[in-house]
Amino acid sequence: MISPVLPTYNRTPLAFERGEGSWLVATGGERYLDLGSGIAVNALGHAHPALVQTLTEQAQKLWHVSNVYQIPEQERLAAMLVERTFADTVFFTNSGTETAELAIKMVRKYWYEKGQPDRIEIITFEGAFHGRSTGAIAAAGSEKMTKGFGPLMPGFRQLPFGDHEALRAAITERTAAVMIEPVQGEGGIRPLPDACLKGLRDLCDQTGALLVLDEVQCGMGRTGRLFAHEWAGIEPDIMMVAKGIGGGFPLGALLATEEAASGMTAGTHGSTYGGNPLGCAVGATVVELISDPAFLAEVARKGALIRQGLEGLVAGHPDVFEEVRGQGLMLGLKCRAPNADLVKAGVAAGVLTVAAADNVVRLLPALNIPDADIAEALKRLDAAARAVAGASSAHAG
Ligand SMILES: *Cc1c(COP(=O)(O)O)cnc(C)c1O
Repeated sequence: MISPVLPTYNRTPLAFERGEGSWLVATGGERYLDLGSGIAVNALGHAHPALVQTLTEQAQKLWHVSNVYQIPEQERLAAMLVERTFADTVFFTNSGTETAELAIKMVRKYWYEKGQPDRIEIITFEGAFHGRSTGAIAAAGSEKMTKGFGPLMPGFRQLPFGDHEALRAAITERTAAVMIEPVQGEGGIRPLPDACLKGLRDLCDQTGALLVLDEVQCGMGRTGRLFAHEWAGIEPDIMMVAKGIGGGFPLGALLATEEAASGMTAGTHGSTYGGNPLGCAVGATVVELISDPAFLAEVARKGALIRQGLEGLVAGHPDVFEEVRGQGLMLGLKCRAPNADLVKAGVAAGVLTVAAADNVVRLLPALNIPDADIAEALKRLDAAARAVAGASSAHAG
């Protein structure tokens, strides 16, 4: 018999009652060091006092009003994002997928208004993840997500990740846009080298194609800059943001230049919940805390600290791990043993990680994880690796 909850997830048999910083407390009382952060969502850890305060204060005033009215909390957050990024304008959503949908619509409308309605091809990349809507699965194109859901929305072309020659050959004056994650998350923590992102920007400039960056996972301070593309010194035309920006409250944002957004006039897009006062109030506190240069410098320092420990872990368990990848606090352990075994052994050792494609274990800790928790995490990851190595040598013997 089907479960009351639609069984679309493979869930670990573990439930939590509360969270404190980098820790989750299970319903049975056990404490787990959380290196998954709800997949990069709890960017400031669990129950951050400033977020709890903002949420409860706003909850006593106003939760929701329709976008038929002005929403000052939304205007404030938009102004903060415009001030801190390339963008001139922002649309708020409740998730990452919705930002993918709007990005696709914005690109199509842009070329329609420019008198090129047939210019619809959006180039995307193998291993990409942009969400689970019909548009977003067509964009990413992987069989795992699209099988059985056809016919898929047309207008996407997937290229190999990080193959500049393939890109140079594919991108033409008929390309509408290129959509890419500066660091692939679900794809296995695969950073696009800065030189590739720069080259991509140049190709877009030469052909007029719009550059759409999906920073839903790698943005909001995760790599040690407010947004990952800042490392390459380039700017996109459109950027998708979600996950960390709400610190746990469902919130997303599509950022764009005035030019890229020029087709999106009154009546062309909307959302009932998007940009509600509660979400935007929380988002403003998150943006204020994370965009502080001192906070971002700490993310980079903590990233280097944990990376050094992980390099030692990999060196100590060459049969279990192959390498460390990623940037800042968006890290991946490429495994030799099955990544699912590592994640499971981690649970047993009291440390929570997330599997990704390419046999990678993802580490996405809270951006403010204390150094002491980093040291404890490394100990627990070492225990998990020993358990996996022991199990496989027992099996081999
Ligand atoms: C999670 C994710 C999405 C989808 O976000 P949802 O909030 O799950 O809809 C899109 N792009 C990237 C890069 C993501 O990591």
